Amino acid sequence: MFYINPPRGKIPLYITEECVINRLQYLNLLYNKEECKFSGKFQYLLEDSPYDNIGHFTLRLLVSTTPESWNHWLTRERLLLRHRLNHLLPRQLHRLFRNILRRSKNYDRHEAACIKLSLITLSAHFLRPDVFRHIISDEHTTGCDLFPFKVIFTAVPDLVKERKLQLERGYCVVHCSMWKIVLESLFHRLIQLEYNIYKTDMQNTVRMDSRLQLMSQRLTKSILTPKIESNANITALNIDNEARKFPPCMRHLHLVLRKKHRLSHYARFYYSLFLKDCGMNLDNSIAYWRDEYSKPHTCESGCTHKWQESEKKFIYSIRHLYGLEGARVNYGSPNCQTIFNADPGPRYEGGCPFKILDNEQLKDVFNSCLIDDDIQRELIKLKGENAGAACGLFLQATNDDKSHVVVQSPLEYYIHVNKHI
Ligand code: SF4
Repeated sequence: MFYINPPRGKIPLYITEECVINRLQYLNLLYNKEECKFSGKFQYLLEDSPYDNIGHFTLRLLVSTTPESWNHWLTRERLLLRHRLNHLLPRQLHRLFRNILRRSKNYDRHEAACIKLSLITLSAHFLRPDVFRHIISDEHTTGCDLFPFKVIFTAVPDLVKERKLQLERGYCVVHCSMWKIVLESLFHRLIQLEYNIYKTDMQNTVRMDSRLQLMSQRLTKSILTPKIESNANITALNIDNEARKFPPCMRHLHLVLRKKHRLSHYARFYYSLFLKDCGMNLDNSIAYWRDEYSKPHTCESGCTHKWQESEKKFIYSIRHLYGLEGARVNYGSPNCQTIFNADPGPRYEGGCPFKILDNEQLKDVFNSCLIDDDIQRELIKLKGENAGAACGLFLQATNDDKSHVVVQSPLEYYIHVNKHI
């Protein structure tokens, strides 16, 4: 819980992933004061367990790739420490001080010497039987100053800056009622200091291991992409109407599915997530895919799966996308950048039309949407420079909308159209 040394040993990758995902989920809920909604696996979050350590140190490594994701994570880790300190039993608290004392003595980074010394002073002070009995007793109240101790001021500059501690000849006087905020500040300082020193090494470790790199990309994307939500209600019955408001990439997938009754794996994955985020609930999603996959496939579809033969598998995979099976990850729909970069193979029917279609093919799409020749020319010019801006102009032209948008994700496109019609 006060993480000083990373764990050793071997662990399967999928468990590491589960530790990380569950931890991040819990940290976010805690930050939003919704921790009671946590539905993941608590065994990965038990204080001081191997899983708890693995989750913390792996996340620390994965978020080191960008300052934004690092700050996002560290704020929440600090909050988790505060939350845990507020709920410790006396026995656990005693063990915590013992662990901090033991681990700090073995900690040998000279850059963090003053933090190490302060941790040793603090834990040794509170392990004194009279002090420990006092802090767990009823007489120890908020503002209690019966058992003060001192730490060097450079170890807790944030508390000095906020005038939370009194200065005395280069030392801060810490009253016994202040132990939690001092411990929290030392925790934050120690992790931040290690990041400042080892940032490049951490980033190289992630970059050189494709498994870590993939996990890190997913995490930073989920951390840095602001959540936008649609209030629409797409059902298996109204989807043909709603698809008129989809961006060209998703409208194309809808039309392919209607025509061939099948989609390749990644096209199905992206399109299902898009529908989920647009507001299609689980039952309607199952009904929609069942309708199509129950029909005979066309020979050029490349997929021969039938709903009747693999119903359980289909339902499981849809529930999985809704975060109800497996690691219970709530996957988000792809943004434009993900669609631009996707290269899942020759059978893939998806992609951004502004990137993958040539001018003649695009003109066919524009003509089918009755777009003026002038706008068509502008769209063709824009698509080479900025596909998102071309998509925004397409949105204007097909919806009689005057607002200028640079589309960042298919979901954003759909929400925008819904707001302005
Ligand atoms: Fe889809 Fe984005 Fe391309 Fe628009 S710009 S078609 S939303 S991928």
